[in-house]
Amino acid sequence: NLTGRLQGVIKNLRGQARLTEENIADAMREVRMALLEADVALPVVKDFIARVKERANGREVLQSLTPGQAVIEVVNQELTALMGQANVGLNLAAVPPVVILMAGLQGAGKTTTSGKLAKLLKEQKKKVLLASADVYRPAAITQLQTLAKQLEIDCFDSNPQQKPLDIAAQVMDQAKKSYYDVVIFDTAGRLAIDEAMMAEIKALHAYLQPTETLFVVDAMQGQDAVNTAKAFGETLPLTGVIVTKLDGDARGGAALSVRHVTGKPIKFIGVSEKVDGLEPFHPDRMAGRILGMGDVLSLIEEAHKKVDMAEAQKVADKIKSGAKFDLEDFKAQMMQMQKMGGMASLMDKMPAQISGMAQKINTTDVDKSLRRLEGIINSMTPEERRKPELIKATRKKRIAAGSGVQVQEVNRLLNQFEETQKMMKMFSKGGMAKLMRGMGG
Ligand code: GDP
Ligand code: MG
Repeated sequence: NLTGRLQGVIKNLRGQARLTEENIADAMREVRMALLEADVALPVVKDFIARVKERANGREVLQSLTPGQAVIEVVNQELTALMGQANVGLNLAAVPPVVILMAGLQGAGKTTTSGKLAKLLKEQKKKVLLASADVYRPAAITQLQTLAKQLEIDCFDSNPQQKPLDIAAQVMDQAKKSYYDVVIFDTAGRLAIDEAMMAEIKALHAYLQPTETLFVVDAMQGQDAVNTAKAFGETLPLTGVIVTKLDGDARGGAALSVRHVTGKPIKFIGVSEKVDGLEPFHPDRMAGRILGMGDVLSLIEEAHKKVDMAEAQKVADKIKSGAKFDLEDFKAQMMQMQKMGGMASLMDKMPAQISGMAQKINTTDVDKSLRRLEGIINSMTPEERRKPELIKATRKKRIAAGSGVQVQEVNRLLNQFEETQKMMKMFSKGGMAKLMRGMGG
């Protein structure tokens, strides 16, 4: 994959004390191959390589103390620039109801992403109305309604017998009457070459006057994705792109070329089929991820969102004060790890060196065993959790029976706990507390 290939180049470069035009050219050939293999559009690759080459042969790199590192930095900066430099958020600056119009091919993820966006806006205290004008697939309207129900967000009751433009009129009517802040308007999938369908969405656009017209594109479609985005952009004044399914084994090329080809920013990326699988797109972090430098910032942001701050602070304070770290704290720690998406998602975002090491760990097993451990602790009395030393043979048997495991597993947990407790004691001079606070904000 792209990351793997680029890491090879980086490893080679990093060690070089001196760089010549020749070994820069070699490295660039590798980068070029890696990008093409990842389905990045050819004109984008050419442009990119030319820019990196020029800078890499410049004084800034050749006279640097660590030229290899300097080339890597140039590649990193240019990758970031290619994807648009900084994050561009949703524009909601208009008289409510602000309309977001979703467009794209069938199966790109429009309906799912409509739900994800609605959830995000609801979390920002917006009153959101979801609406579907997909009258061509009978199940499409129901799909959005089901999603809305699950998210506890209002959904317009579209009548599939009506024309999309008529539905739009009723939706806007309801949105105004009931003072919605935002309307997310989901549409049917269509091909850019289908003139009748393109005329339909153009008319919808003209009527709805959306503040955001988002093109939803499936990363798995590679080069095609970018061509479609371009074709759509010629008919519809797009304001941004959402690249979905970046969690799959997509080669990532779409994310790299779409900005360059369409001139529109990627605003979000879809990273799972679940309703919370939507992330703001940060070009610099994506570049770092591609180059295997790890997406540590996203990780921290995630932690901020999901870790129960008060809980983290409590544990931190407790350790700092030198108080005993008990099984209750142990459990709280494990639960926070689960909240952060479990081992697999954590490892995914770690720098390549660490996640490479961690590949040997079966993350699913770890998550499973975390849940088992939680089950065991739940079978203990509060007193036992505070004073694990009380847990002798009879109690162990009772706990094992209560949580449906073998006594050996209870033993293993107690050993693991003791290890952690020792570690906590070691860190209690402030190190761990600082770390926990860092995570919690
Ligand atoms: P639409 O035809 O454009 O409305 O596409 P849908 O929203 O119905 O999505 C098509 C399929 O893609 C569904 O099975 C979704 O669950 C899946 N999907 C959408 N976004 C993502 C994503 O970011 N990651 C993954 N893994 N699946 C996604
Ligand atoms: Mg749909």
